[in-house]
Amino acid sequence: MTPNTLPFLPFALPEIGQDEIDEVVDTLKSGWVTTGPKAKRFEADFTEFLGDASLHSMAVNSATAGLHLALEALGIGPGDEVITTTHTFTATAEVVRYLGADVVLVDIDPATLCIDVAAVEAAITPRTKAIVPVHYAGLAADMPALLALAKSRGLKVVEDAAHALPTTCGGQLVGTLASDVTVFSFYANKTITTGEGGMVVTRDAELASRIRVMRLHGMSRDAFDRFTAKVPSWYYEIVAPGFKYNLTDIAAALGIHQLRRARAFQVQRQLLATAYDQALAALPLLLPPRPQPGDMHSWHLYVVRLTDAAPGARDDFIDKLFAAGIGCSVHYIPLHLQPYWRDRYGLRAEQYPHSQHAFERLVSLPMYSRMTVADVARVAQVAARALGA
Ligand SMILES: *Cc1c(COP(=O)(O)O)cnc(C)c1O
Repeated sequence: MTPNTLPFLPFALPEIGQDEIDEVVDTLKSGWVTTGPKAKRFEADFTEFLGDASLHSMAVNSATAGLHLALEALGIGPGDEVITTTHTFTATAEVVRYLGADVVLVDIDPATLCIDVAAVEAAITPRTKAIVPVHYAGLAADMPALLALAKSRGLKVVEDAAHALPTTCGGQLVGTLASDVTVFSFYANKTITTGEGGMVVTRDAELASRIRVMRLHGMSRDAFDRFTAKVPSWYYEIVAPGFKYNLTDIAAALGIHQLRRARAFQVQRQLLATAYDQALAALPLLLPPRPQPGDMHSWHLYVVRLTDAAPGARDDFIDKLFAAGIGCSVHYIPLHLQPYWRDRYGLRAEQYPHSQHAFERLVSLPMYSRMTVADVARVAQVAARALGA
């Protein structure tokens, strides 16, 4: 059997079960389709999943929205600088520009592909207000070092945890660390999905209150609450020009059941990652960075890098995989190469040698919970042929 006779193996696919479908149908029949009881339940379930009752979990319609709300609540605005990694999706950085603040992009640590803490430290100026690390591919960034640095310099930390459900750092789930806010994504290809959606998590009651208000038009009932015991159901006050970032109950219905399966999905992804590690070991590929001993990697992505011993370029490798019916992707075209970011800040590739080096060589291989070990073997076989092994 030649690989071409097999069905196309996509790079990512969601795993939606009957429970999700039934819950969505129940929501549709309930008459309550926008934010309501299911979104509330999803938030409570999320806090329970993280295992820390002091957390506020707030459902939003994307992680991009969540990152925007987090930085807004922290008071980021014109004149401020926010430091993040060049090796990410544009959403991580664009939200800083929504607020009129400036983005300072720094390089990655080639050992982890996550933000380089020494580069963060070197980029701090009197205007710096916050750091936004990304747990790239589902491997935790060096949070102990980043949190210590942020504390010593009086900076806020917002974790872009779009890849990191569930990921641990020092044995603690991402979402329960000492950062100010953590934001998860439930986009279609993430480890759990609501189609589009996200969750904002914080321990800070004041930040939570601001995020809740700004999530829905700047609408508040708190002002009224202060003066009277009984608030009429129709009463609200607009306290700010807020956003429309709430998650629908239709989406939350999916999320409730996806969250229940998050650990099982991680186990399957871990199994696939281990199978990849073994099947690819002899090829001229640098395998993905490992988590610290005892820590959990969500394996949102399985990213390999062609070594200098590999024949041909990364682009040819991807073409050959596609020709053999295997989808893959590139995470990411670094922001310093994107016209908007490059031109706005006059960025040059030489400023980001590690991200640039990784970008030129990396490929994200298919990785999703519905894949099988046989699928991994098929990818490895095609990869071996493409690399002339
Ligand atoms: C997917 C992703 C986002 C954006 O998530 P949405 O829910 O699509 O807004 C942000 N940052 C990173 C690193 C991502 O991968």
